[in-house]
Amino acid sequence: MEKLLASYDPSNGELLGELPVASVEEVDVVISQAREAYKRWRKLSMVARVDLIKKAFSQVEPHVDELAVLMSKEMGKDLRRSTGEVGSTVYGGVSLAQSAMDALKTRDLGGGTQLDYQPLGVVVVISPWNYPLAMAKNLMVPALVAGNTVVFKPSEETPLIAQAFVELLNTVLPQHVLQIVHGDGEQGKALVESNVNMIAFTGSQAAGKDIMTRASGQLKRLVMELGGNDPMIVMHDADIAAAARFAVASSFENAGQMCISTERIYVDEKIADPFEKHVVEFASRYQTGPWDMANVNIGPIINANQHRKIIEHLRDAEQKGGRVLLGGSEQPERYIKPTVISDMTTDMLMEQGETFGPVVAISKYAAIEEAVERANNSTYGLGAVVFGGKEAVSVAEQLEAGMIGVNQGVGGSGAAPWVGAKQSGFGFHGSPEGHRQFGQVRVLSR
Ligand code: NAD
Repeated sequence: MEKLLASYDPSNGELLGELPVASVEEVDVVISQAREAYKRWRKLSMVARVDLIKKAFSQVEPHVDELAVLMSKEMGKDLRRSTGEVGSTVYGGVSLAQSAMDALKTRDLGGGTQLDYQPLGVVVVISPWNYPLAMAKNLMVPALVAGNTVVFKPSEETPLIAQAFVELLNTVLPQHVLQIVHGDGEQGKALVESNVNMIAFTGSQAAGKDIMTRASGQLKRLVMELGGNDPMIVMHDADIAAAARFAVASSFENAGQMCISTERIYVDEKIADPFEKHVVEFASRYQTGPWDMANVNIGPIINANQHRKIIEHLRDAEQKGGRVLLGGSEQPERYIKPTVISDMTTDMLMEQGETFGPVVAISKYAAIEEAVERANNSTYGLGAVVFGGKEAVSVAEQLEAGMIGVNQGVGGSGAAPWVGAKQSGFGFHGSPEGHRQFGQVRVLSR
């Protein structure tokens, strides 16, 4: 009997829809179809491919509003954020196609030698639920531009929005150039182990490690954007109100379910009291609720397991001496009310790993060296932020992270790659260097 993947509204548990899960045999068929389509797709000029990709993304544009509602229902984020994500996926897809083409052009190295980027073959794109379209688009577009065909496995939490998106793109793209396979980690593993050439993955560190192991037999190419445990350092001469506003916004964005959300804050003890006061004041203004309720800016937590994990981190902090300034471990079902915990210590779960919830976790430091050491004492290294005066840049330069913001969030210029250091990433995307990972470098001398 056909196995179905059910998708639920995280705000109330209501069934939104069901889609068939691919069996192992079906995965094999999909990959064979992708291989056949690859023979034709790679033969098109890059200009022709980019033209089709841009047209495909423009098919999504008239459907931004309906896709945003579906995203909100399935994932829980409020409508303003969903509309922003779907809109930026459309515009971002088009501009990404152009910048990938520029990056992947053949280069003349002089002396009769040229360097070009050959397609790799079939690329599996595996994505998470927290930004269900944006994350997929970032990997899918450069893969297609480079001449690969793509098999996309969205998160089991957000299959409906992914299916609707792919159906729209496929009104333009040639048959089997972009296919979708539904399921959970089991289908992910089957795809990684199948006859494919590259796995482009965004998700957790644990799944990334498993993928690397399974892909090693055939040395399949990998790009992996993994989790983070981003620190923020607030120095004695920081603009306290600005730092507090950022700390709250970054810890609560997308209900804290964001790879670059601020997870740990180290504040100079000289300014800790006013900083905490501002944080509590800003945090108290946040409102939890379903996506269609007025003034909501913290939606439901994606599922019961993640909800349990956040509560576990909060209980652990409370048991180990954390001071609850707002919220705490007593929480309603499905939601986490804005929470602020102070006196975080190194033995707490929230210092050691991703809490992935709307929690501001604060610790005081006496000397800046201590703050830098604790910030760097992590296997993660995705983002980091420093708020402070003239020494802030030199502190930022001591942090072990792929993306660092000084008196601002991470990322900066749109031309920058999205990159994690240490165990937050293996490969990266965006920027010419990122795009070029989707092609095989070939040197031809004549
Ligand atoms: P997850 O790793 O549980 O799942 C991600 C995807 O991988 C899903 O489609 C899932 O079905 C699949 N999967 C799970 N195990 C697999 C395996 N062994 N082999 C192949 N596929 C497998 O992550 P999640 O809970 O969906 O997403 C949250 C995580 O993603 C967080 O750690 C977050 O920080 C990270 N994330 C990172 C970035 C980034 O840019 N670095 C962006 C968004 C999310």
